[in-house]
Amino acid sequence: MSSATIESRSPQDPSDVVVTVPDADEAAVGKAVDRAVKAGRVWSATPATQRANALSSAAQAMADAAEELSLLVVREVGKPIVEARQEVARAVGILRYHAQAALDADGETYPTAPPADRHALLLARRRPRGVAGLVTPWNFPVAIPLWKAAPALAYGNAVVLKPAPDASAVAVRIAELVSRFVPKHALQVVTGGAEAGQALVERADVVSFTGSVGVGHQVAAAAGMRGVPVQAEMGGLNASIVLPDADVAATAGTIAAAAMGYAGQKCTATSRVIVVGGILEAGTVGEALVAAVKRLTVGNPIDEGTVVGPVITSNARAKVLEAVDEVRGRGARIAIGGKPGEGAGWFVTPTVVDGLSPDARLAQEEVFGPICVVLRAATVEEAVEISNAVPYGLVTSVFTRDLGAALRVVDGLDTGMIRVNQPTSGVDYHAPFGGEKQSSIGPREQGKQARELYTSTRTITIAPPPA
Ligand code: NAD
Repeated sequence: MSSATIESRSPQDPSDVVVTVPDADEAAVGKAVDRAVKAGRVWSATPATQRANALSSAAQAMADAAEELSLLVVREVGKPIVEARQEVARAVGILRYHAQAALDADGETYPTAPPADRHALLLARRRPRGVAGLVTPWNFPVAIPLWKAAPALAYGNAVVLKPAPDASAVAVRIAELVSRFVPKHALQVVTGGAEAGQALVERADVVSFTGSVGVGHQVAAAAGMRGVPVQAEMGGLNASIVLPDADVAATAGTIAAAAMGYAGQKCTATSRVIVVGGILEAGTVGEALVAAVKRLTVGNPIDEGTVVGPVITSNARAKVLEAVDEVRGRGARIAIGGKPGEGAGWFVTPTVVDGLSPDARLAQEEVFGPICVVLRAATVEEAVEISNAVPYGLVTSVFTRDLGAALRVVDGLDTGMIRVNQPTSGVDYHAPFGGEKQSSIGPREQGKQARELYTSTRTITIAPPPA
């Protein structure tokens, strides 16, 4: 086995090495999966009531460690402390929810039809798939691993988690907190990069991935070739549509936070603001957005007032600044931002770009940083068309007080999630989560839908012995 290691560094202070962990190779991942296969047999035979108790205890352990874990999230991935605390609280809720889900009905009965005896039973019963291979990104280092691991464990699977290298320390810590309530090796973390991820996808009985579109497609193809169920949650290029009757200042404040909070590094962040018709004449939405962005505090994510911290790496910052350079050359207006931020960390000022056409690269490709474009539409129908005319389909918001218009927009959108008078960012762990087009492959995550991936169904007929 290789002795290579990887370092995870703090984005606000790149000289701070948060952790050095093994860069697992194929052999190391293979061993982890072998151990998980054995542990999974024990876990799947554990009564559901005990699995539920284990997840409840894990939720309590996480609640008890909430502040320590939140501070580690701030340090390792630069998430502002207020959002880090919210994420940890959500993870506790996710564990509690799936503790209860373990006790849900695990099947259905159907009427039997001749020639079966009329006393026969026809059942559909769910069972775990085996070893769940989870490959996750760095931006929600607690919530995403747990919204996959909690249902996988609740339904009796073993879990091997391969976190993003930049979130290794948080992953190791959540595994410590949760794994002591399940059989040894039923929840393991293998740290490493692409090779470790690939090796896991090549061995797991079911695969759940969250990350970029390019990698997601590779993962889905590899799992598909092996014939194992797979789910991939990928990027977004989410729009907020602002109708003429919306309250301009309040809407701009909501959109600014959804676009720039955590430096825009959420798959549900707002990247496009589509302003409709009459409201333009007042010339207000773009300006109100700029004013709202100006009010956001950029700074060290450990400070309670910070809304926008650094981006994750120097490459991530370079990508934002390159996007700004490219649009400058095309006559667009950088209404605010577009510069490296102050300090040693990977800061970049929150950026609003105006004057691009909807087919410009920045309005078509995810940058994953604190940058959004303002686009214009003459009519509600045109706004829906612009919103849909991207390869992604994760989430769209619409802001209006006109219920009829909101319902027409909702009907026309090609996104998996639609939010009226709500920011694009925000996830409900008890409701289905996922997108359309290149944003998602496979069944939805979260809520009861999670069962579709982590269980398979056997149809069983039980008849009296032949007379
Ligand atoms: P990424 O695709 O670079 O990496 C995701 C994970 O895949 C990491 O663990 C990485 O090590 C692993 N990986 C890389 N190459 C691999 C390969 N060939 N085979 C198997 N695994 C491999 O993504 P990232 O930079 O960590 O995260 C940012 C992306 O995640 C953005 O595109 C964002 O939109 C997306 N995201 C989506 C959601 C969602 O639910 N839709 C949520 C959060 C983030």
